[in-house]
Amino acid sequence: MAVSRPSPPPTQAAADSAALATPVAVPAKPPKPRSRMMRQYDLVERVRSYNPDTNEDLLNRAYVYAMKAHGSQTRASGDPYFTHPLEVAAILTDLKLDDATIVAALLHDTIEDTEATRAEIDHLFGPEIGALVEGLTKLKRLELVSREAKQAENLRKLLLAIADDVRVLLVKLADRLHNMRTLEFVPEASRRRIAEETLDIYAPLAGRMGMQEMREELEDLSFRTLDPDAYRVVMQRLDALTDRNLDLIGEIESQLAKKFRDNGLTARVSGRRKKPFSIWTKMERKSIGFEQLSDIFGFRVIMPDVESCYRALGIVHTTWPVVPGRFKDYISTPKQNDYRSIHTTVIGPGKQRVELQIRTQEMDQIAELGIAAHAFYKDDVGSPTELLKRESNAFAWLRHTIGILSESANPEEFLEHTKLELFHDQVFCFTPKGKLIALPRHANVIDFAYAVHTDVGNSAVGCKINGKFAPLSSELQNGDEVEVLTSEAQSAPPSAWESLAATGKARAAIRRATRTAVRDQYAGLGRRIVERLFERTKLDYADDKLKGALPRLARASIEDVMAAVGRGEIKASDVARAMYPDYKEERVVRYGAKKGQAAVAKPATEPPRPPSAIPIRGINSGLPVKFAPNGGAVPGDRIVGIVTPGEGITIYPIQSPALKDFEEEPERWLDVRWDVDESTPQRFPARIRVENVNEPGSLAQVATVIAEHDGNIDNISMSRRSPDFTELTIDLEVYDLKHLSAIINQLRAKTIVARVDRVNG
Ligand code: MN
Repeated sequence: MAVSRPSPPPTQAAADSAALATPVAVPAKPPKPRSRMMRQYDLVERVRSYNPDTNEDLLNRAYVYAMKAHGSQTRASGDPYFTHPLEVAAILTDLKLDDATIVAALLHDTIEDTEATRAEIDHLFGPEIGALVEGLTKLKRLELVSREAKQAENLRKLLLAIADDVRVLLVKLADRLHNMRTLEFVPEASRRRIAEETLDIYAPLAGRMGMQEMREELEDLSFRTLDPDAYRVVMQRLDALTDRNLDLIGEIESQLAKKFRDNGLTARVSGRRKKPFSIWTKMERKSIGFEQLSDIFGFRVIMPDVESCYRALGIVHTTWPVVPGRFKDYISTPKQNDYRSIHTTVIGPGKQRVELQIRTQEMDQIAELGIAAHAFYKDDVGSPTELLKRESNAFAWLRHTIGILSESANPEEFLEHTKLELFHDQVFCFTPKGKLIALPRHANVIDFAYAVHTDVGNSAVGCKINGKFAPLSSELQNGDEVEVLTSEAQSAPPSAWESLAATGKARAAIRRATRTAVRDQYAGLGRRIVERLFERTKLDYADDKLKGALPRLARASIEDVMAAVGRGEIKASDVARAMYPDYKEERVVRYGAKKGQAAVAKPATEPPRPPSAIPIRGINSGLPVKFAPNGGAVPGDRIVGIVTPGEGITIYPIQSPALKDFEEEPERWLDVRWDVDESTPQRFPARIRVENVNEPGSLAQVATVIAEHDGNIDNISMSRRSPDFTELTIDLEVYDLKHLSAIINQLRAKTIVARVDRVNG
């Protein structure tokens, strides 16, 4: 992709016109090469031009100190490093800021990048300036770690850092603006990151402080870096449309001015071209191109006082047809960032839609410069009370936001006051009761549920978004009202949610809950196994007694022991022996003596049969016999025996797919039949596969059904087939096929069970 090398952006030109509307006939600010570094004298002159009481000595000393401190350091462009703090100071003189701010700008990189110290700056320039420079140093350090940190967290730190003195923010914004103007010299990778951060944090922050000029320039510079092709296209269209409409623009200006003059009003009317970034976002938002003049031009009507603003509005509205829905009165109801103006759109001269902003000179200043327009020059214009009131608005927002961000309490107010402007990376949703839940973008209902409360997340089974049923994985949009439906039956979430959740909080909670739930299931299973053994052996079981035996089992708690038994890590008989050291293990009868065969534990009360008593006919005595290793066989199955020389005979049900392997060797096939003695019930191995709904406790339910129907569970293995289903492979011992079928049918009757199959290996 061809990257257009942006020409050096205008610095002085932009700054000079900061307080004024862009003149109509100047389509684009021409790049102005910087011929020489600003001199000490130039800087002092700039400050003196708006502040006759400036402390020249202070400015001069700061200039010299910073220049010496940075010494031979250079910027990426090759310029002496000192040009940077000097340009930052120059930007702030355009905002007509006080001496302390200008000096802080000159010194802003000295603590971090040179030998200078806070103590030295305090000593030479006073603690007020020292504190400003230190605040800026903290921000710079913050920037260095910003890649890893979350933006909202960064913003919180940023706001905390500027909490003590808003002038830190003004210097920071000027610093960023100069860095953005010279971004072309920075390597591609960091260029993008800086531009993104500017667009995400600094531009909205400037806007929030009412500094529209600053915001627009930051946005356009970011836009040009992040999407050079789009930027070029928009600029070309803008220039073409401007050229084509030059006459019309002049015509509209003069007609408007004449109308006001005829009605005895002195108005300054000027057309102002909209900025590429704002046009682009509008095009993107509405998926439209721009063709109308009103899409690219707005007209500003500056009146001497508030009353004339309303009179001008009356004249406009009685002269030209009004476009409905476009009228806004921000004079009677200022925006949170102190912006005041009347907006309206009419079908004006030449049947063109004309967008108008009507306001006083003072309002215009504030609209462009925001907090910088009045924060420090209170003897400038307007009544001090009015100024203070407006000031407190912007400051109040800042302090309020900091308060909320640092306490992360009362998010409703937070939303109200920030109006989402600053948080491109967040979505704000509501509970049915109107409580605000802030989440990162791309978060879904699962994240929402955990943000409300861990218990809500763990027991969530469904949801409604804006009153409509929706999947829990639905991505949330700003303003969504979300009702989470919960079920007491679900005490832990499906573990698959962990990969669906977008927030770390939800993921951690899900991991914790599923880990606990799985452990609980194993512990429950283990407890049943242990209890069964104690019943059979007529030993007394007591938790206290097991507690005393924990060291012998090398486990920390009773639950740990039970879970280990459930998982098959320790045997129930180990538990019995730990509690009763003279406990003798139950007699276990194995049919045949080989490894890997189905082992059948028999109650100790039952007399064991000798191995030869395996109830199958057709086998030469003496040969070891075992059942098919993966699935076994039970009376009622049609069976065959397969002879393995040197090993013995394996009994397979006739439906076993494993028999395929022996098709080529008919000599190994043995015709066998069951020979069960009805009077002495005996158990046989079988394997089933149960697909059950992935709910906590479902394993316990399955185990209970099997136990209630007198089946013995020999082994269980679990695997997760999908977010919703778990597959259990259960080796059990039953009396016969009828018994097995009964158990299978009972399992199928359970609502949590989706499917049960006999498995033959
Ligand atoms: Mn800097």
